[in-house]
Amino acid sequence: AKQYGRGGYTFYNEDLGDQLKQQALLEEELKGAVERMDIEPFFQPIVDIENGHVKGFEVLSRWTSPTLGAVPPDIFITIAEDMGLIDAITWQVMRKALKVAASWDNDLFIAFNMSPHLFNDELLMNIKWQLSESKFDPKRMEIEITENAVIGNMDEARVALDSLKDLGIQVSLDDFGTGFSSLATLSKLPFDKIKIDKSFVTDLDSMPQNAKIVGAILALAKSMEIAVTAEGIETNDDLNFLSAHECLQGQGYLFARPMHAQDVSNFLADANEL
Ligand code: C2E
Ligand code: CA
Ligand code: CA
Ligand code: CA
Repeated sequence: AKQYGRGGYTFYNEDLGDQLKQQALLEEELKGAVERMDIEPFFQPIVDIENGHVKGFEVLSRWTSPTLGAVPPDIFITIAEDMGLIDAITWQVMRKALKVAASWDNDLFIAFNMSPHLFNDELLMNIKWQLSESKFDPKRMEIEITENAVIGNMDEARVALDSLKDLGIQVSLDDFGTGFSSLATLSKLPFDKIKIDKSFVTDLDSMPQNAKIVGAILALAKSMEIAVTAEGIETNDDLNFLSAHECLQGQGYLFARPMHAQDVSNFLADANEL
């Protein structure tokens, strides 16, 4: 039976027959959703830890199926990758997000997640097209990739990263610390930023191991002169630890959950009043 990596078993508790039916239904629904362009960009703020100012947003895809309800991206992105729908989803969501962001009266950055499947020759062409269509400043765009997109073909990856950087786009290494060769990836490729995985950014005051790992990553990034965003900040204690260790940017439910495009301006207005 076909399984869907991360998703397959956590979402469903039924027996295998029911699971397969559910999986088939999910695939059918997802295909329809992509055809109707139902997948929406949500925006989660990334803030300057020192003063709370919003610096940019990460775009996170959201899909609410009429029959299945809200399907978590960990699930539908994995299925989309297996079904060959991830290209369509990525470019649809980017197009919608850039259209919205181009209408904002600010210079905040917008970060997009790129699935490893997309890290190929067409990437640059598609991004250039999106930037010119939306008239969005490339300097305000960030591309987040995990090391899965680059391991195995470091040379090609370097060419791809260099071309993105030549356009002025910032490239971030996502989920830093969770892969098998985070340090090798960091040493070989010219990333502008790393995102400390949220699994480390928790109980920093009470879990010495997490605190040591996060402290070491921050020191490493500082010595390499690479920017850092800590993901998954949920408590003031974690925020205080990060602040004391000179982590410059943060993201997490403590600041805001990912929000619909129409809620962004209100959020920014409130944030600026603080
Ligand atoms: P990610 O890129 O690591 O994104 C961060 C995830 O952490 C998001 O989950 C976000 O909602 C969640 N998060 C943010 N702050 C907190 C916090 O304080 N606590 C906790 N517990 N979680 C927090 P989300 O939106 O469910 O997305 C899950 C993953 O799905 C993403 O992880 C990314 O790998 C993937 N994904 C989402 N949208 C896209 C997309 O458009 N394209 C691609 N290729 N992948 C996407
Ligand atoms: Ca990300
Ligand atoms: Ca991440
Ligand atoms: Ca992740």
